[in-house]
Amino acid sequence: MATCRFCNSPLKHTLVDLGMSPLCESYLTAEQLNHMEPFYPLHVYVCDNCFLAQLEEYVSPEAIFTEYAYFSSYADSWLQHAKSYTNLMEKRFGINSNSFVVELASNDGYLLQYFVQKKIPVLGVEPAANVAKSAVEKGVPTLIRFFGEKLARELLAEGKCADLLIGNNVLSQVPDLNDFVKGMKILLKPGGVITLEFPHLMRLVEGNQFDTIYHEHFSYFSLITVEKIFAFHGLKVFDAEELTTHGGSLRVYGCHQDDVTKRVERNVAELRDREVATGLTSLDYYFAFGEKVKETKRKLLEFLIRVKWEGKSVCGYGAPGKGNTLLNYCGIRTDFLDFTVDRNPYKHGKFTPGTHVPIFPPDKIREKRPDYLFILPWNFKDEIMSQMSYIRDWGGKFIVPIPGVEIY
Ligand SMILES: [Zn+2]
Repeated sequence: MATCRFCNSPLKHTLVDLGMSPLCESYLTAEQLNHMEPFYPLHVYVCDNCFLAQLEEYVSPEAIFTEYAYFSSYADSWLQHAKSYTNLMEKRFGINSNSFVVELASNDGYLLQYFVQKKIPVLGVEPAANVAKSAVEKGVPTLIRFFGEKLARELLAEGKCADLLIGNNVLSQVPDLNDFVKGMKILLKPGGVITLEFPHLMRLVEGNQFDTIYHEHFSYFSLITVEKIFAFHGLKVFDAEELTTHGGSLRVYGCHQDDVTKRVERNVAELRDREVATGLTSLDYYFAFGEKVKETKRKLLEFLIRVKWEGKSVCGYGAPGKGNTLLNYCGIRTDFLDFTVDRNPYKHGKFTPGTHVPIFPPDKIREKRPDYLFILPWNFKDEIMSQMSYIRDWGGKFIVPIPGVEIY
């Protein structure tokens, strides 16, 4: 039996089973359509000891992240989020040109570029070489490595430790969670600050966001679980904020456990109490989720079948990882979606993994004038509906699939 990647208890309970799915960032070329494609179980368990929701590691991080199709900078609102974060860090913690800022999984430099603009020394750590290259072109020094205890010790030996250590949407992508957090503990300067952002498990369940589950996301966190993990490694959470990004994320602020300069804010106890009151420390809470997900699939397919019977055309917008979980789980292929479009040129001319929906540049929408535009990255729905508002010229409508089908 598989065991919990944090506390090692046996994993006996299913949160949700989404069947078999390919790696969601493995876009295919036309030539690859004729080849076999690996599918892996997308089965999430919840640990009855620490309540960490998790997938088994079916695929190594090397296989997933060495070349990665996700470039953070293609979403305008995410860049805005990154920029205001840098201003906040400057104000709240006095991060300045004497500080050293390290971001783990720094992607294409979408965030560190704003520290570089302020002449604040930075280091990005990013295992995906193709993505890291784009960071270096932006002037963001980047190590093409996986982070963990080993790299933290190497950096420390070079005299490098972080005043600010950032991990945005990376904690979920780490199979060896304890090695990663141990590395953070080592790399953090005494008095330094860690900020981590991750999708909040409570929002995932409440918002029915099952499509944010994919093989790249090994773990799904609540504040309660992160506090346990931090405490185990000699760190503590001293503040927590709820953010609207990625369908509802948490930003937690961490420091060394013995750091008396940081007051633990009331937010932490308030959110922890709210998680307990919502049921995150009871298994029944997790068991209810699976049925809700099945019902969402039935309703979405019912809607799509109806509009196809009416002779309407449906095209996708976006080809994000989450879209691929949704399309594969629901069995939506070119029988429902003629094609999808994406702003990321890396994906143009390719096909969605498993479902083989062709991906074009956004201009294709103007040319084909679909009756419905199916928004796959629903977390950016407002931005997309405003960018694509011209579909209303021909009576086009938007479909948002999550938490349940909505037409705009
Ligand atoms: Zn556990």
